[in-house]
Amino acid sequence: MYVNDYLDTINKWKHCPMANYVCPVARYTKLETNTPRGLAFIYSLIVDNLKDIDEVTIERIYQCNLCRACEAISRDDSSIPEFILAARRDIVEMKMAPEPVIRLKDDICNNNKLCDMDRVKDLASNSKSTPETVVVLNYESESSKKIFSIIKKLLAENNIDCAEINIGKYPAPAAMLRELGYQDLSSKVLNNLTYIIKNVKFRKMVFITPYDLELLLKSQTVDIDNMSQGLVHAFEFLEEFINEKVKRIDKKKEKIIYIDSEGNRKSDKFYEIPRKLLIDVAGFDIKEMVWNKKESFSCGGLTLQYLYCDIFDGIIKIISNELKDYNIKKVVTPCPHCIENLCTNPDLKDNYEIIDLWEALFTINKPGG
Ligand code: SF4
Repeated sequence: MYVNDYLDTINKWKHCPMANYVCPVARYTKLETNTPRGLAFIYSLIVDNLKDIDEVTIERIYQCNLCRACEAISRDDSSIPEFILAARRDIVEMKMAPEPVIRLKDDICNNNKLCDMDRVKDLASNSKSTPETVVVLNYESESSKKIFSIIKKLLAENNIDCAEINIGKYPAPAAMLRELGYQDLSSKVLNNLTYIIKNVKFRKMVFITPYDLELLLKSQTVDIDNMSQGLVHAFEFLEEFINEKVKRIDKKKEKIIYIDSEGNRKSDKFYEIPRKLLIDVAGFDIKEMVWNKKESFSCGGLTLQYLYCDIFDGIIKIISNELKDYNIKKVVTPCPHCIENLCTNPDLKDNYEIIDLWEALFTINKPGG
């Protein structure tokens, strides 16, 4: 069992409530068995042969939304999300994965070009980019399409060639398949992504959502040589672009709420760069959420909405309730997937302007926004 590699984590966490307060799932369900401690406790019974793995255990394991907030505030390297991922691999290997998990896995494999080597080769051979092109790795969504059009327009104004590689329906197929417990399929996607990186010419390859790039950079199985230098998150590229090309940005002097993405909670750049751009460069007055940066409340993550939509909706509702207290209607996040998750809530969709950093810095403010 893969989970046997995490016996130390299970032991350390089964009596430790220190991260329960950051867990969005436990906060919504109010169930002890959804907390980081509760998950470790259930599994301690299984690994000690005091309990069999059953439907409720599998449900709890797939209800964790892998936001990694518990890991970020841990006092050591033990990681509840890594233990959860191992448990899901075991569940998949035991052929006990719940039906919605299998359905989502199939849908990702059928609708993401990175899951299929023939389509990956087509993507690479159809690319007309040059070593000077900024290639944006994008997916099919309204918000990411809008962000790409802003990036393309700004780069064109600065005589920089920009091209898009659209990978299909989901924003981060490698991270999503890994979340579901299909590690081999996830590794295959990373290998296919590596093929694109090695066979498409670019000056920079910009990842519009952070998840697959972070996984790729952490992966010990894919070899991207020294090419990792050219791979950047959209917010990193925005900072570079402003430093190199933008002489002046009008100060906005406007109040906004900033919501962190889940990206990589162990890397300070995920918190510092967006705030630096919004506050120092653009002059926004940020109202921070109660829980922010490493402790930030998940925007729902990548897969929970397809597996347990009641919990997903509940998590977004908690965010929407907090926003009501602030009387500020503009919300900025660094990731289009956060925008899509937040906009599943009718109140947030209808009553707030929820935008990405690129749009916040470069489009004209709407009156009253
Ligand atoms: S990863 Fe997030 S959802 Fe999962 S147990 Fe930790 S805090 Fe809760």
